[in-house]
Amino acid sequence: MPARKHAKKIYEHFNKIVADPVLQIKRLKKTGSFRIIGWVPTDVPEELIHAAGALPIGIVALERQAVSLSTPHMQVWSCSLMRCALGMALEGSFDLLNGLIIPVICDTTRMVTGIWKQVKPYAFMDNFLLPKQVDRPSAKDYLIGEMGRLKARLEQFMDRTITASELCASIRLYNHNRSVMRKLFSLHTEHPELLSNRNMYNIIKSSMLMPKELHTNMIAELWRELEKKVDDNKSAGKKCHVRLLLSGKVWEPPVIMDIFDGLDIVSAGDDFCTGYRYIANDVPETGEPLRALAERQFNRLPIAAFAGKSGDRAKSIIKMVEETHAHGVLFVHLKYCEPENFDYPMLRDDLSAYGIPNCRIETEIDSLPGENYFEQIKAFIDSIGGVV
Ligand code: SF4
Repeated sequence: MPARKHAKKIYEHFNKIVADPVLQIKRLKKTGSFRIIGWVPTDVPEELIHAAGALPIGIVALERQAVSLSTPHMQVWSCSLMRCALGMALEGSFDLLNGLIIPVICDTTRMVTGIWKQVKPYAFMDNFLLPKQVDRPSAKDYLIGEMGRLKARLEQFMDRTITASELCASIRLYNHNRSVMRKLFSLHTEHPELLSNRNMYNIIKSSMLMPKELHTNMIAELWRELEKKVDDNKSAGKKCHVRLLLSGKVWEPPVIMDIFDGLDIVSAGDDFCTGYRYIANDVPETGEPLRALAERQFNRLPIAAFAGKSGDRAKSIIKMVEETHAHGVLFVHLKYCEPENFDYPMLRDDLSAYGIPNCRIETEIDSLPGENYFEQIKAFIDSIGGVV
């Protein structure tokens, strides 16, 4: 890639990768003879796949037209995230994948694995079983054991041993990529006029669809461009934005971020699996690497599918609101996401009791562009005072 590409061109590159994941997989396949192993959100330890010599690819860039293809195989009251992922597989979008890992984080992911194996099997398929009772003393040891089991299965499939030094090297690579994205995210929250919500979140999503080395290099190039722009912008005066914290599983459909950009709202942070949560924590670089991967998992921002004691997630969101000076919290919930629906009443009540304005929108991957999200989001920011 030429060294001095303009920031806009770099954004376009990331955006194209997110817009056409199938083309991206085809391009990657042409660059070498490595295997590609897909993973379904969320919390699959990608470092293990990378250390095994395969390229991990997240099933995160979704095509809303594909949702209906899964209808003969899944209940229509399953979340559209899983219906879309299976639908894309059925239409052949992932035919170049050599394998797939589905984490068991809810009843839907538990159920879809068996269906997927029947209707669209790959050479390698595995379930990654996260602990459900996260605050039990045995949970961490259980997870280390589960990491070891997945490592052994990957070794068998790839016909090689993953050494500790290889896994440590993958951990360092992934940590570095997360750290440069965190730096960009800080710039985004301070200068949304330079790095919009849609561009920032596409950068995070594209990191799940690209070799990390390449992604990190592109960010370095973007950073150089943006640093110059920050200096140029200093005298121009900053536009005021409403700062919202976001909570939910994924920021789908992406038009939500366009609405934010249009209404001068900046996402100050989130606990999305495809958002800030993906980059918020690193894996410790000392000690036994499987234990280190488990350590990261337990330090990650709690989500509906992986949280400790009742109240931990609300505390985590309140802490983020305070740290980011957010004006309120917008819950972005996929319709039929049972874990989020279960958490929501308690989160709403805890945040309201703390005086934090909050609102919930219900979305679907296959909803029409904009639908009535605009009115709901606009009404919420008007209720908290509008652009300040
Ligand atoms: S956690 Fe929610 S969004 Fe994720 S797979 Fe389960 S039901 Fe779907």
